[in-house]
Amino acid sequence: MTVRTRFAPSPTGYLHVGGARTALYSWAYARKHGGSFILRIEDTDIERSTQASIDAILDGMRWLGLDLDEGPFYQMQRLARYAEVAQQLVKAGHAYWCYASKEELDALREAQRARGEKPRYDGRWRPENAKGKTPPADVKPILRFRNPDEGVVAWDDLVKGRIEIANAELDDLVLLRADGVPTYNFGVVVDDLDMAITHCIRGDDHVNNTPRQINIYRALGAPIPFFAHVPMILGADGERLSKRHGAVSVMQYAEDGFLPEALLNYLARLGWSHGNDEVFSLEQFVDWFDLEHISRSPAQFNPEKLAWLNQQYLKVRDDRLLAEAVAPRLSARGIGVAAGPDLAGVVTLYKDRVSTLNELADAVEPFYVEVYPGAELLAQHVTEAACGALRDLHTRLETAVWEKAQISQALKDVVAARGMRFPQLAIPLRVVLIGQTQTPAIDAVLGAFGRDVVLARLSRHI
Ligand code: GLU
Repeated sequence: MTVRTRFAPSPTGYLHVGGARTALYSWAYARKHGGSFILRIEDTDIERSTQASIDAILDGMRWLGLDLDEGPFYQMQRLARYAEVAQQLVKAGHAYWCYASKEELDALREAQRARGEKPRYDGRWRPENAKGKTPPADVKPILRFRNPDEGVVAWDDLVKGRIEIANAELDDLVLLRADGVPTYNFGVVVDDLDMAITHCIRGDDHVNNTPRQINIYRALGAPIPFFAHVPMILGADGERLSKRHGAVSVMQYAEDGFLPEALLNYLARLGWSHGNDEVFSLEQFVDWFDLEHISRSPAQFNPEKLAWLNQQYLKVRDDRLLAEAVAPRLSARGIGVAAGPDLAGVVTLYKDRVSTLNELADAVEPFYVEVYPGAELLAQHVTEAACGALRDLHTRLETAVWEKAQISQALKDVVAARGMRFPQLAIPLRVVLIGQTQTPAIDAVLGAFGRDVVLARLSRHI
């Protein structure tokens, strides 16, 4: 069997982390088995679907690097096909036109509720009940599936195990709305069939839909794909993940300076495990991924862990690549780097101290803009005694060979000559250079700045 999986988002918002995880699992399953991964945009909710959302989904997939073998396909471009399959079902007696008006159905539901029954369609336009009834001229019919009355629908869910639902629990679901647009359950079956999908990997909010879909497959005499329903992602408060839990849009993470590899690694681990492995490459993930190790209980989204993972990726990333990623972030702040010190030489000082590219941009910014230390900092650290030491240092640095060991020696010489402790020089120096009392190793910081800038910044205060 050639594995074929799909990601089938409804374009009613951005690509959120839950959707991205579903996409990742479907993609990885196809890649692992040498199969195909397909993107289908389920845009049948005309009111809520937008082009902006389609673009956001495509951007998100591209940024994550989840490449497609086929698609994107759009359901609204396939209406003729749904109509065709609908006719096939009508002909075979598995579907029928229902002329019940909205008011009539509302009244039915009310009456059922009043009797303490579960609201459900009562089959009033099933062919056997509609005999002799004249369809009202003012009602555009909808197409309903004639669900079997008896028996059970069962499947072996590849995540959740065996699931069984009695047909008595299911009513005659709508296949086509009055405007000819298919409902989700109908569109999904026709498409999964036409696209020869072998494994439907999706959120477990669809478990209730699956028996209905299986009944449609059966009515069509079609093979039924495997289903794998992945548990939801919850926020730290145990509620379903939503905007309240901070950034949930994939592209927001891009903007905030997360690396796609880190987000993918995080999503891979969120609800799936391979022993105790936490940091692994996408290639490893594809190699290891299986459906058996998807957790049966909901996963909890943990922003701190994501930040930690991002940090692991930043730490080992090549300095040049980091510089290329940070430069546009500085440029967006109106800060050019061309005239300043080599950016790769500066990012390397900070890359193991930050969690995001934005934090990295914050950290290196003082190397490319004028720094005006606050009056309080100056008063506290750049005292008379400190100024004397900084003056000495200025003199020594004017002639020192500009490399780390020599710079370090100059600092040590000043400290020794003045009988100071090292921090008594290093802290005022940090304050005048960067406006902060803490930095990476001060000799490395001086080295990265370059002599001219160091001397100019020192001169301003001595
Ligand atoms: N359009 C559905 C959703 O976004 C897809 C469900 C499925 O994968 O079958 O939830």
